[in-house]
Amino acid sequence: MLKPGHFSRRELFGLAAGARVAAAAPPESDGAVPVESREPAQFPLYTARGTHRELGRQHGEQAARQIRAHIQMIRAQQRMSREQLRRRAAQFQPAFDRYCPHLLEEMRGLGEGAGVSFEEAMACNIRGELHYAPQAGCTAFAIRAQGAAQREMIAGQNSDMGTEVIPLAYILRLQPQNKPEVLTYTFGGMLAYHGFNSAGVAKFENALGGGPPSRFGIPHYPVERMMYECRSLEEVFSLLRKMPLEYNVNFLMCDGQDNIADVESTTEGPQILQDEGAGYLVHTNHYLSKRFATPENFKRSLPDSFPRLERIHSLVQSRYGSITVADIQQFLSDHSGYPTSICRHDKGMSTVASMIAEPARGVMHVALGNPCQRRYVAYTM
Ligand SMILES: [Zn+2]
Repeated sequence: MLKPGHFSRRELFGLAAGARVAAAAPPESDGAVPVESREPAQFPLYTARGTHRELGRQHGEQAARQIRAHIQMIRAQQRMSREQLRRRAAQFQPAFDRYCPHLLEEMRGLGEGAGVSFEEAMACNIRGELHYAPQAGCTAFAIRAQGAAQREMIAGQNSDMGTEVIPLAYILRLQPQNKPEVLTYTFGGMLAYHGFNSAGVAKFENALGGGPPSRFGIPHYPVERMMYECRSLEEVFSLLRKMPLEYNVNFLMCDGQDNIADVESTTEGPQILQDEGAGYLVHTNHYLSKRFATPENFKRSLPDSFPRLERIHSLVQSRYGSITVADIQQFLSDHSGYPTSICRHDKGMSTVASMIAEPARGVMHVALGNPCQRRYVAYTM
C-alpha cells in the first residue's frame, strides 16, 4: 500500500466543492492551443506502436492539441498555475513508479511527443475533476454471444459528461510489443479509457453514487490501461484486487471466452457481479452489489440512474437472442425519461460518445455526441 495520506485527492488538486468549468477563472495565457469550439463530425483515429516510450511519443505527437487543451482545462477547473499543477502531479509519481513503471515511461514519451512537461503528462492521467458521481452519468451493457444475432459478444455504453470533453477526444489504436493490441476511446493524453483489446477483454464504465470515501492511491487511467494488458476477466480481477484505487467506479466487462462481469470497483476493493444466467449485464450509476446497494448510497446517486437501468434492461430483453448492432444503436438513442434518458440531453451533462464494441471482430462503432443525431463510425483494430 501507499503511505497513508493525510490529504484527500480533492485537497491535492485543490478542488473547490462543486467547482465547474463555467465557474472557473480562465487560465493565464501561456501560448497553449485553444479548444476548438466547433465539433468535428467524428473522432479522429490515432495509431501508435512499439515500446512504451515510443507508444507515448507517437500518441503525444498526434494528440498534442488535445493534450494541451486538456491540461488547460484541468488547470482552469482546479484553478491552478502551471507550477502548482506540476507540483501536485509529481506527488503521484511514486504510485505510478510502484504499480506501473512501464506506463510512467509511456507518460514520459507522451510529454516528449506533445511538447509538454513530464508532470503535465502525468496530470493528464490523474485528472480528478470529472469523477464526482453527480458530474458523470453513463449507461453500460455487455451481452453474451447467445443474446446476439451473430453469436458474438457485444458490449458498450453511452458516456455522459460535460460536452467540453468532445474536442479533446479521439480513438487510440495501440500496438504494444508483446502485449495485446488496444482500441480505446480516450481524450487528452489519457493512456486508455473505454474500449477493448485483441484478446477480447472489453471494459466500459459508470460513475457510482456514494460508497467508501476517496483516498490517495493510484489514479484510474493507468489501471484501465493495465486492464487491457490482461487476457481474461480472471486476470483483470486479480489486477483490481492489487490496486489501491483512488475512488469508486463501475467496470462492465467481457473477455474472449464469452465471460461477462460487472465490477463495482471501490476503495475498499472490488465487488464482482455475475449475470446469474441472464446472459447479459447492464449498469447505470447506482450500486447493485449487496454490500453497497444501500439507501444511503442511493440518496447520493443520480435519481435518473434507476429508471435508466430499468429501461436498458427492458430494451435488451426485448431483442435478446437476436440483438444486432443496429438494435443497440436504437437502445443507445432511447429517449425514455428525456432529458436524463439513455441518450442524455441534460444541461451540463449529455452523451458525449456512444460506443458499441464487437471485440471478436476487432471493431468499435462510435458516435460523436448524442447518437440520435450522429451516425456511428466503425473503427477497427
Ligand atoms: Zn438523443
